[in-house]
Amino acid sequence: MNVRLFKPSVGTEELEMIQQAFERSWIGLGPNVNKFEEEWAKFINAKLAIGVNSATAALHLALMLFDFPPGKKVLVPSLTFASTATSILYNQLVPVFIDSDPENLGIDLDDMKNKYDEDVVAVIPVHYAGHPVPMDELMPWAKEKGIKVIEDCAHTAGGEYKGKALGTWGDVGCFSFEEKKCMTTGDGGMMVTNEPELFKDVKAMRWVGIDKDNWKTAQKYTDANIDAMHWYYELNVLGYKYNMNDLAASIGLAQLKKLPSFNKRRAEIIRKYLDGISAMPNIDPLLSYEPEKYDYWLFGVRAENRNDLIMHLKSNGIATGCHFTPLSVQPIFQQYESNCEFIEKEADKFITLPLHPDLTDEEVDYVINKLKQY
Ligand SMILES: *Cc1c(COP(=O)(O)O)cnc(C)c1O
Repeated sequence: MNVRLFKPSVGTEELEMIQQAFERSWIGLGPNVNKFEEEWAKFINAKLAIGVNSATAALHLALMLFDFPPGKKVLVPSLTFASTATSILYNQLVPVFIDSDPENLGIDLDDMKNKYDEDVVAVIPVHYAGHPVPMDELMPWAKEKGIKVIEDCAHTAGGEYKGKALGTWGDVGCFSFEEKKCMTTGDGGMMVTNEPELFKDVKAMRWVGIDKDNWKTAQKYTDANIDAMHWYYELNVLGYKYNMNDLAASIGLAQLKKLPSFNKRRAEIIRKYLDGISAMPNIDPLLSYEPEKYDYWLFGVRAENRNDLIMHLKSNGIATGCHFTPLSVQPIFQQYESNCEFIEKEADKFITLPLHPDLTDEEVDYVINKLKQY
C-alpha cells in the first residue's frame, strides 16, 4: 500500500467551473474572483474579503496596511511556516520569535507577554494545525498594548473559536489555498477584515497599484462614447503582482461548496487516529485534538526516536512529514531575538501523518497498524 501525506480533493465540479471561465474567455482577474471573494466573506462572516495569489502575499500586504516604521518589532511563533516570518522581513520589520504552548503548540501567551516591549507593533498568531489560539485572551491584551493582530489562518478554513470564525478575531485574517491546505485553488489566498476602511487600498496593492475592475470595463470597450476612457487608471499606492485569477477562483468556488465535507472527513479521520493510538504508550498525539469541536488541517504525533519511526513507516509505503522545523533555528533568522527553548527541542519528536479528505478508512487502519507494529 502507498499512502500519501496530502492530496488535493478535486474533481468534475472544479473542471466544470474552469470550463465556464474558458467559455467566457476571461481567465485573469475577473468576475469569478469577485464572486469567490463575496462567497468567502459570507462563509467566514467577515465584512470584506480580497483574493490574492497566496497566503504569503496576504501576510505581506496585511502588515503593509499599517505603515509601521522600519525596524519596529512583530511577535511571531517560532513553530510556523517560513512565510509568517518572511512577511515581517518584506516590510523591513524585525521578527521576535515566541515559544509554543506545550499542549496545543500555538503561540505561548506567557512568552508573548514576556517578550513584549515598546517597539512591538503587531503580533501574528498562527492557528497551528487548525487548533485555535485563545483569541479571547490574546485580543484584549493586544488592545491594551495598542498593537495590531494579523491571524495566520493557513491551517484553518471555516474553523471557529467560541462561536466566532477564526480570521475574524484580529484586524486581518489571512487564508491559504495552496494545494495541500484545507481547500485549494492550486495556489491562492484570501485576506479578510471587519473594518472595510482598513482595506481601502488592498485591491490596488494586490495588482501593481491599479484599483479597477477590468472585467466591467471590458464590457464597455465597444461603446461608441468618446468619454469612455477605458484604458485610464491612476497609480496612487505601491502595489504588487499578487492578484488571484479567475482560473484559481473557479476552482475555489467549487472547493468552497465541498469545504464543510472536507472538514468533517478530516475530523472523522482524526478521531480514528486518536482512538487507534490511545493504547500506544510511546506515541502521543501532536496536540490535544478536539475534532468534534474544532476544524483541523494537520494530524501528527510526538514520539521519541522519531527518525526510526519515520523510516519504519516509509518502508511500509506511508509518507510522513514534519511541521515545522522551528524558524528560530533557521540560519536566516539567527540574528533575531529567539530563545524558544521548549519548541526547539520538542519539535524533534514531531511526525506528521497522512491526512486529506480522500483518505480511506482502510488506509487509516493500515497506518495505525504500522504504528502499532513499531
Ligand atoms: C502554507 C502556510 C503559509 C503560506 O501559504 P501560501 O498560500 O503557500 O503562501 C503561511 N503560513 C502558514 C502557517 C502555512 O502553513
